[in-house]
Amino acid sequence: YTDIPVSENALEPRRGGPKNLPIAEVLVDDDDCPENSKQKHKPKLVLLGSGWGSVAILKTLNPEDYHVTVVSPVNYFLFTPMLPSATVGTLELRSLVEPIRRIVSRAKGHFLKAEAVDVELSEKLLEVAQTNAQGEECHFYLPYDKLVLGVGATTNPHGVKGLENCHFLKDIEDARLIRNKVMQNLEQACMPTTSDEERRRLLSFVVSGGGPTGVEFAAELFDMLNEDLGRSFPKILRNEISVHVIQSRGHILNTYDEALSKFAEARFAHDQVEVLTNSRVKEVQKDKILFSQKDEKGETVTKELPMGFCLWSTGVAQTELCKRIADKIDVQTNKHALETDTHLRLNGAPLGSVYAIGDCSTVQNNVADHLVHFLRSMAWEKGKDPEKMEITFPEWRDVAQRVKKRFPQAADHLRRLDKLFEQYDKDQNGTLDFGELHELLLQIDSKITSLPATAQRAHQQGQYLGRKLNKLAQAAPGMMVNEVDYGDLDEAVYKAFEYHHLGSLAYIGNSAVFDFNGLSFSGGLMAVYLWRSVYFAQSVSLRTRMLLAMDWSKRALFGRDMMNY
Ligand code: FAD
Repeated sequence: YTDIPVSENALEPRRGGPKNLPIAEVLVDDDDCPENSKQKHKPKLVLLGSGWGSVAILKTLNPEDYHVTVVSPVNYFLFTPMLPSATVGTLELRSLVEPIRRIVSRAKGHFLKAEAVDVELSEKLLEVAQTNAQGEECHFYLPYDKLVLGVGATTNPHGVKGLENCHFLKDIEDARLIRNKVMQNLEQACMPTTSDEERRRLLSFVVSGGGPTGVEFAAELFDMLNEDLGRSFPKILRNEISVHVIQSRGHILNTYDEALSKFAEARFAHDQVEVLTNSRVKEVQKDKILFSQKDEKGETVTKELPMGFCLWSTGVAQTELCKRIADKIDVQTNKHALETDTHLRLNGAPLGSVYAIGDCSTVQNNVADHLVHFLRSMAWEKGKDPEKMEITFPEWRDVAQRVKKRFPQAADHLRRLDKLFEQYDKDQNGTLDFGELHELLLQIDSKITSLPATAQRAHQQGQYLGRKLNKLAQAAPGMMVNEVDYGDLDEAVYKAFEYHHLGSLAYIGNSAVFDFNGLSFSGGLMAVYLWRSVYFAQSVSLRTRMLLAMDWSKRALFGRDMMNY
């Protein structure tokens, strides 16, 4: 139904917009769609990205209601939670990807393997860059009635020097590069010309960042070195290899329940994976890492660690496209993500025309406000006036647990609040009054306003938006075309987005940790099978499920393939 008349053979394209670029037309075949039919007036829905958020929309959307175009520089959906397993050959790369065209065709949509570079918000034109057959970059405009930004995020460099000496783990190509580098180091370590010192350096693997990705990668690497090294590289002794995790906070997995962080740390200590907490990387050089560490007296000392491989996995930052969009809108002041209202509409964009979901966005939602709300309802339940209520520590913990269920990323701040409460409590006979607690909340207020950058959140937001788009189409067919002002239709047809945290899980090397709504547990083989089953069930297609099952069976029977790709 649609074609982009920007190729040489196409009709002379219509040009326009501020940059006078060709404008791609969403053409409707006249034979199929008479002038006045509903089909002819379907709104143009453009989805950016082929990740968790966009795929959830595509799977929820009613295919008849929109002209859907998906724009993404990659033509696959990547199942990121299992990406660390692909870096050491536990799983094969192809088992983690699903061709996006299959998913797009379900929504009777159109896919463009291209990159969005800018948006003209007032004219509803998306600027797209695509590389032509001659290898030149061409730009054109794609008009939209509704645009959904689901472009994810990039790695956060934190202003550290020398990141060109690091590996990252965001995409399938990153996993391939890591796998090859690990193999290359093992091969070089076996060379008769390699000195003992150089050998130890080559076999020193450093992970910068103790979040779930860093921890799962360290665990996978450790498993591979323990299970397959002896057979394939008998010349390398296990005690010549070292794995280090550098973490800026006091604990690894610090957004999980404290007991789970400690379990993971104990597990790593047992497996001789060194965890360096309260440590910050200052610079990464070709052969070593410089980092500062706080000692027991609280003094900062600078240390260095020779390394042959470094993974940089220290959180996410905005993509260039999102920065460019934020620069155009005065009210977009958040440096980390695009801010939306609770209906996921981009703040500051023409109402109801642009939405942002997943890692590239943050919903303006103040956790401190939620704490106050929960405290007030607790007071009313007890028939007390909240402003005069005294709160005991157990009551505070109860409220904090309820808030943590909805905002798991606030766990760290809630822990800090616990400590503040305890300090305060010493002089207050076991209670705080509402005003005092509010004072404490203000100290953490601004830091806990966002939602976690997880597949779980992107998926929920995508499903929510898909359902809302269906409702919008039913409520007012054809409303979004021909410049009809559709104002606050979102709020009229559907509720605001609410995040439901279903839990967090992480693989930590032949064991796994789970944090499900305040219920946390950890364990060995059974937990690993549970971990696998959760992801197996969430995998996007029968095809990927079959491939995953084959990979796990192959590894159990023959071990990992210890070779470069
Ligand atoms: P993404 O899934 O990142 O998709 C973004 C899409 O946008 C991509 O297709 C990209 O190519 C495309 N894109 C980028 N720029 C442009 C552009 N300019 N124009 C058009 N398209 C563009 N989360 C969990 O909940 N559980 C886990 O266990 C977990 N493990 C993870 C492990 C790893 C190694 C990684 C990297 C992430 C993990 N995450 C996990 C986080 C999860 O993957 C992200 O939160 C999730 O992918 C976010 O979804 P998204 O749709 O916002 O973006």
